[in-house]
Amino acid sequence: MFEQSRLNLARWFTLSMGSILVVFAGVLYLWEARGRLYFFDQALYNSSQVIASGVEEVTYGNQRRIDLEDAPILGSDAIKLDTNIIFARWYTPEKALLQFMGDIPAPTLDAELGFQTLHDHGSVSANNLRQLTLPVYRDGQMLGYLQVAASLNPVTLPLQQLRLFLGLGLPVALATIAFAGWLLGGRATQPIRLAYQQLQQFTADASHELRAPLAAIISNAQLGLMKPTSPAEQADCLKTISEAGESMSTLVGHLLFLARHQGQLPPEAFQPTDMVVLLASIAADYTSSIAAQELHFEVSLPEGTALVQGEPGLLRQAIANLLDNACRYTPAGGSIRLIGQLQPRWVCIRVEDSGSGIPAENLPHIFERFYRVDKERSRQAGGVGLGLAISRQIVELHGGQIKATSQMQQGSQFQIRLPLATPMPD
Ligand code: ADP
Repeated sequence: MFEQSRLNLARWFTLSMGSILVVFAGVLYLWEARGRLYFFDQALYNSSQVIASGVEEVTYGNQRRIDLEDAPILGSDAIKLDTNIIFARWYTPEKALLQFMGDIPAPTLDAELGFQTLHDHGSVSANNLRQLTLPVYRDGQMLGYLQVAASLNPVTLPLQQLRLFLGLGLPVALATIAFAGWLLGGRATQPIRLAYQQLQQFTADASHELRAPLAAIISNAQLGLMKPTSPAEQADCLKTISEAGESMSTLVGHLLFLARHQGQLPPEAFQPTDMVVLLASIAADYTSSIAAQELHFEVSLPEGTALVQGEPGLLRQAIANLLDNACRYTPAGGSIRLIGQLQPRWVCIRVEDSGSGIPAENLPHIFERFYRVDKERSRQAGGVGLGLAISRQIVELHGGQIKATSQMQQGSQFQIRLPLATPMPD
């Protein structure tokens, strides 16, 4: 699926970029060709004007004649003209040939006036010639027609080179674009691939977690149905079914929570929350249950208020998850501390215990969904591996940070930092 998307991305990228490149190359070529031809025509026209300026009209007796002796290129007395003119011809006003230089022309003028390109002109080294035919007037009177032609090589040769360059360069550029498209496609699909993998893993983990209580429910229900059992055995079956149902309900609750609070909280969910009051209330809730586990509970809260913009219910749950874990992984006789501290911009909440600790290699993963250091022990203790993931999600929704440190057999320390609604002056 991802390879197909990557291929499609690369294909569309190559197609769009390639079309732009081809159009750009075409426009560049036409622009260059037109520009070169324009300047070439200008030069040819200027040469024709120089030749025409040397043509004179003389009168012998009462006969008018055209004298071309002084006309450059056509006349023998003329100064040499430094041009690449291949041929020049002079025609009378009646279009009869009078004089020429270069190829032998037709006796009468049959070409159209203006510029023309003569292709495959065999008599000279150049294949193509540019020909200009124009009438020459003096004092309002027509003297005749001048026709000149020059080799188009100065225009065609550089254009040939440009065509060669574009012809070779375009496939190379297209191949490079295709390769870049392939690489970019890979990079673009990488986050989606990762998210998809995470989703797959999450679904697999969730299904796996649901399978055990489901199996317990099914087997106990079948057991209850199969043979007549004593009321005590039946009660056992029902108890297991009820426990499995409860565990499933907790898990589904956690999953729903994670799904519902993905992304951002609506702005109206945030309200000014005094963390000192909230921590005191949480501490009061836990005092008796911690004492019942024969654990020592120490609470240290700052003076005054610590206002944060937050959803009190969610913040309570984030801290309660840490306290639940501290109770779960600290053996009787140990101690748990709940500490609140004020910093200039943050309120810092610490939950410390003297429990089993977390191995250093597992520490970076404990906030991942369904991650448990010791699956069996955690399951027995009633954990599904989502508590810390939920705490982290809540803290991040509030723009805060959560981190953990731990030493084996000495205990673990969890710290939440939440930004204060009104930072204290430094
Ligand atoms: P669980 O529901 O299994 O406790 P959590 O996400 O809350 O899942 O915690 C992930 C894992 O981190 C736990 O399985 C446990 O191995 C470890 N852990 C969390 N808190 C503590 C703690 N205070 N002491 C020791 N291990 C802990």
